[in-house]
Amino acid sequence: MSRLVRSEGLVLKSRPFRESSKIVAVLTKSSGRIEVLARGARKPGSRFGASLEIGTEAEFIYYERENKSLWTLSSADILNSHQALRENDKTLTLLARILRVLHYISHPGESNPGVYNLTLSVLNAMELGTLAGLYELYLWRITSLNGYPPHLDEGCLVCGRKDPVYFSVKQGGLLCNQHAQGQEAVTLSREELSVLGELLNVAPSGFNIELTPMLEGLVRRYARYHLHADEKIIA
Ligand SMILES: [Zn+2]
Repeated sequence: MSRLVRSEGLVLKSRPFRESSKIVAVLTKSSGRIEVLARGARKPGSRFGASLEIGTEAEFIYYERENKSLWTLSSADILNSHQALRENDKTLTLLARILRVLHYISHPGESNPGVYNLTLSVLNAMELGTLAGLYELYLWRITSLNGYPPHLDEGCLVCGRKDPVYFSVKQGGLLCNQHAQGQEAVTLSREELSVLGELLNVAPSGFNIELTPMLEGLVRRYARYHLHADEKIIA
């Protein structure tokens, strides 16, 4: 018996399979990450058309096979192709980095609407041309949505003092001068702290701030540490 499933989803990656097919990883809105076999997808004039390009949002209909980790794709109707993002190197590179992280943090059977919607709004922001700081905004927020929000408003994590100037990646928040002693923590200016706050709260299309190398490094280390990812996943 096979079971037909319909879900909106986003193409994360695809690879050739046998002579004419593809295996495609999709993040579905309702069932988390799935892998589907798209028979004949590499034949000219395939019914899947351009719907299996990375970053494409589509409505997928698929059915379960006996091997339950791989589904068979029946159809894919494009909702938003995000074609423009694949047409230049800069946006294609950013798209690929975002989808690599998304693939890594998503799992079969686990839907995370917050992460799904954030990803779509980041892709839309890219299409509007707001690229500066966008990768870090994405990393900062998905780490937060996965249960590790950086604490930026409560003062020192230990004593609550309101003039902390250090940020600890491992502890996920601010420390004062005294409690940063002996910790791996970096100094932050008021301005840097406020950029980190905006990174967490501003709409992705309204951010567009080029981060300093120090802040870029801090956000990436934070995401790697809390998402248990190495530099191959989060470059
Ligand atoms: Zn303190």
